[in-house]
Amino acid sequence: MRKIALFLIVLFSLYSCKNTQEEFVIEDIEPYKPIVDYGFHFDQFNVHFDTIDRQDTFEKILKKQNLNGKKASEILKIIKDSFPTSVVFKRPYVCLRSKDKYNKLQYLIYQPNRIDYYLVDLTDSVVGFKKSRPLTFKVRTVAGELTGPLTKTLRDLKIDPTLSGKLTKVFAWSIDFFKSKKGDKFALSFTERYINDTIYDGVDSLRAAFFEYKGEKIYAFPFIQERGGKVDYYNDQGKALKNFFLKAPLKFVHITSKFSKNRFHPVQLKWKPHKGTDYAAPTGTPIMTTAAGVVEQAGYTAGNGNFVKVKHDKTYATQYLHMSRILVRRGQRVKQGEVIGKVGSTGLASGPHVCYRFWKNGVQVDALKLKLPNSQPMESRNLPRFKEQIRPLKRALDSVAEIKFNK
Ligand SMILES: [Zn+2]
Repeated sequence: MRKIALFLIVLFSLYSCKNTQEEFVIEDIEPYKPIVDYGFHFDQFNVHFDTIDRQDTFEKILKKQNLNGKKASEILKIIKDSFPTSVVFKRPYVCLRSKDKYNKLQYLIYQPNRIDYYLVDLTDSVVGFKKSRPLTFKVRTVAGELTGPLTKTLRDLKIDPTLSGKLTKVFAWSIDFFKSKKGDKFALSFTERYINDTIYDGVDSLRAAFFEYKGEKIYAFPFIQERGGKVDYYNDQGKALKNFFLKAPLKFVHITSKFSKNRFHPVQLKWKPHKGTDYAAPTGTPIMTTAAGVVEQAGYTAGNGNFVKVKHDKTYATQYLHMSRILVRRGQRVKQGEVIGKVGSTGLASGPHVCYRFWKNGVQVDALKLKLPNSQPMESRNLPRFKEQIRPLKRALDSVAEIKFNK
């Protein structure tokens, strides 16, 4: 007896281990063939599946069930308060009838959406209620190589291709998917939603990912910095991925003049608009480009002095004036934070500073007031929690990639 009990304990613990384990395989998603659903064993009934017609009402559906008018109106009266007033076109309903010679309607189930359903129980006195199908979540961790566009690659791996939209968004500021090459490796960990444990209901969330881009592994992990805050994505070092622009072109910032429609120019000694933000710093201080892009202009004018203009995308460009030295050439591709010149006071400047100008659709705007799609930078107090949280995720990604590519 004791042996049997022990055996059962071992069996159960094995089972529960299996439940929490992450899978590293790519499974086929089987088409749905219900045997048990809505809490019923279908083989115990005569089952009739149907969908709502355009003109259908609960009354019409009930009348189709060979119920007499009195019975139908009795049911309608009872379910009136707990059921929706109308039915949704094309949504399914199921009739469960007794398997005996009477073929009597015992249960009617109407499903207005994938999760909720309404049940009429006619086995005894008529009762009706709303129920929900249980949702379960399964983790999948998968490694692959790009075989073409991301959606195609995902489809080849039997991953919901809608995940590509999410991935493109998460990596938008660090990877140009149009420039990704066939054979670029990646690994993803995500949860899939299932209804009743069997019906696939789509990707629920992205847990972690990496993409190899230009020989570098770029990781992404979702993280919420404070209770009730929004999810942002960070790389394995805790750097926000969605960080289109740095706050300023200098590491240590001292603003001496803000963007203004009218300010007294310190050199020209007259009132005029100032379409930039001035950051004072000693001559020679490195100036960084605030976002990745291509150097559009690098040169000298009497007003700007030595200056650089970087084009980031179709919408945004930034410009850096009064440099003592320019360190980039026109046409050169620059990374975010890359040093493109040194602080100086060339052109119309009263002292060493960088005048930072921000262009949006060809118009100069105030960089300090722009709402840009930036993530919250990781706060140092959150970094230990973040690292702790991503450790098992990173390990899962790396090991699934290891198994896939180094076999
Ligand atoms: Zn300025």
